Amino acid sequence: MHELSIAESIIELLEEHAVTHKFKKVTKIILEIGVLAGIEKSALFFCFDAAAQNSLAEGAELLIEDKLAKGVCRHCHLQVTVTDWYQPCPYCGQLLINITDGEQMNIKSLEVEN
Ligand SMILES: [Zn+2]
Repeated sequence: MHELSIAESIIELLEEHAVTHKFKKVTKIILEIGVLAGIEKSALFFCFDAAAQNSLAEGAELLIEDKLAKGVCRHCHLQVTVTDWYQPCPYCGQLLINITDGEQMNIKSLEVEN
């Protein structure tokens, strides 16, 4: 399952952060996920709980925020906000938007205990 490998990579990232920033436990995580990242949030919640077992993030609260996607229209060169891969430009109506942001996932903030 796609979301399970994502959840596992989040835990790995947290473990690296724990070494760098010298904390021992994560109590809350806020993730920011681009609306075009193709991540199923309910699946990620489920997989995160499973992946966090016996890790520093066991029992941590996970919050997910949507991050709007952005693109630039190749026809009129304006920057647009995108909610879908195949969306016409709101200014000129052409289907020529280059997606520039909104496919990523990143950790926005963490609450930790030493
Ligand atoms: Zn346009």
